[in-house]
Amino acid sequence: MPWCEECSRFYNPSSTAPDGTCVQCGTLIAEPPAPGEEEAAARVPWHFWLLVAALAVYLGWRLLQGIAWLAARF
Ligand SMILES: [Zn+2]
Repeated sequence: MPWCEECSRFYNPSSTAPDGTCVQCGTLIAEPPAPGEEEAAARVPWHFWLLVAALAVYLGWRLLQGIAWLAARF
């Protein structure tokens, strides 16, 4: 929770100025919100990596099957 030492006051994150400063004295008391688009692009959701891992396991399994098929054929 943002705290302004100048005003000795707690703020809700939503009640600070849009740039994260105190509305009374202008002291920076909270992290300025990052641009939403950039943040979403930088942070990959966990289920994406789950999908990548599942795909890697599947392709690895198919590769083993392919090698076994070739070994049985020749
Ligand atoms: Zn203040």
